[in-house]
Amino acid sequence: MPVPADLARSFTISLPAWVEEELADVPAVLATRQDRMALVHRLAGRNFREGDGGPFAAVVVDTDSGELVSVGVNVVLSTGISSGHAEVTALGLAQVGTGSWDLGAGGARRELVVNWRPCAQCYGATLWSGVRTLVVAGSGPELEEITGFDEGPVREDWAEQFQARGIDVVTDVLREEALEVYRAYATHVAATGAVVYNARADTGGDTGSDG
Ligand SMILES: [Zn+2]
Repeated sequence: MPVPADLARSFTISLPAWVEEELADVPAVLATRQDRMALVHRLAGRNFREGDGGPFAAVVVDTDSGELVSVGVNVVLSTGISSGHAEVTALGLAQVGTGSWDLGAGGARRELVVNWRPCAQCYGATLWSGVRTLVVAGSGPELEEITGFDEGPVREDWAEQFQARGIDVVTDVLREEALEVYRAYATHVAATGAVVYNARADTGGDTGSDG
């Protein structure tokens, strides 16, 4: 059977152009977990205002040196790809940048820093990425309550499952600052009628996928 000419062959998840501008004054080394999370919050806060996706960002950093390996933001709206969450974007770009599907290759100790516990999709993406540590701002119900996003079915023992696979979990890094970004997002949506993208775009409902 001939392959239809309009059958898609590839897809691309790329960073919005404004990210370059945000990174211009960021030091090459982010020494503390707070430094790393502060950058995440800054990117998340700008991302939804730019209209690229939800209020989510992530970075991959070399745990010991603090060297920035990659950054990601949620690009579901700008790419039209539902899996374009911040974690998937940051992990994929880190793997392109390092040239390996395993971010732990050669004994590297890299961490994913993200502004809330990963959703059902990004939970798996993080597990298989090779990072050695996951750093989150928080993990409670507040994200869903404030923003209306749906995290999906994430296990109660999510952190233990990471640890069982050699991935340390660090929680509550700049937690209140994360909630401030979500509240600003909720205010933005209420004020502008901005799209809260949906897992089913034609329902017009107010739930979407996180990340
Ligand atoms: Zn996600």
